[in-house]
Amino acid sequence: MYHHINADFFSNRLTIFDEHLKFLSESCNVVLPGETLSSEKINVCMIFDDASFSVYHYVFPLLKKYNLRALLAVPVSYIADSAERHSAQDRLHVPVYEMMVDGLLNEHMPLCSWSELREMSESGLFEIASHTLSHSNLLTNERYETEIAESKHWLEERLQREVHSIALPYGEFNAKILGCARQYYKYIFAIGACDNKNWNGIDGVLFRIYGDNLVNPTALFTPWKRFMYSLRFPIVLKKKIKDRQKFHFDAY
Ligand SMILES: [Zn+2]
Repeated sequence: MYHHINADFFSNRLTIFDEHLKFLSESCNVVLPGETLSSEKINVCMIFDDASFSVYHYVFPLLKKYNLRALLAVPVSYIADSAERHSAQDRLHVPVYEMMVDGLLNEHMPLCSWSELREMSESGLFEIASHTLSHSNLLTNERYETEIAESKHWLEERLQREVHSIALPYGEFNAKILGCARQYYKYIFAIGACDNKNWNGIDGVLFRIYGDNLVNPTALFTPWKRFMYSLRFPIVLKKKIKDRQKFHFDAY
């Protein structure tokens, strides 16, 4: 799970991220949800949450360069038709914590526009996923079904592509939210820093590894990290998913 490039938070530096993608293209099997997994290489599904303009500006050209594909999780309410009147520099310099504030959104357009999303989706390099409508914590949002269902509807309507995946904002959910998400999506992504052995995840939830703030291009794949991912899968997550109403895992 990645967010931004060259931003102030939840971000990677472009130089390291470029090297990171080079490493993935050379050493890993990079897949989209549902695709066949390799038994020889590490399988990696890249997901960019929040659809910030930095993904269009920096990541999209890198995916072309290394011929990689990724998922892009879009918070639908914050997407404008077109951002032509705004300069790239202006859009790239909005602080992360102000990206989904309504007034600033219209002023600086820090997220991708519908036309940019369409271009990315039509390129075949990005598959589009829902990141709900308002990017609110669904645990405290009574309208969670609207968030889950309407975001899929609007993405499919505007982009003319089927949407099979959702990334839950803040990785938060409970049994009701999960049940609802299962009605609309095949692949449900949360946060949990663990290996997924297949596309079923744990009870249908795919837990993701936090990929921002990389200190070097292979930082996600150190022996220690890989040991921790393998440990968390059965021991930590399986136990928690059974009986908790609220799931929140610290990413690392
Ligand atoms: Zn998000």
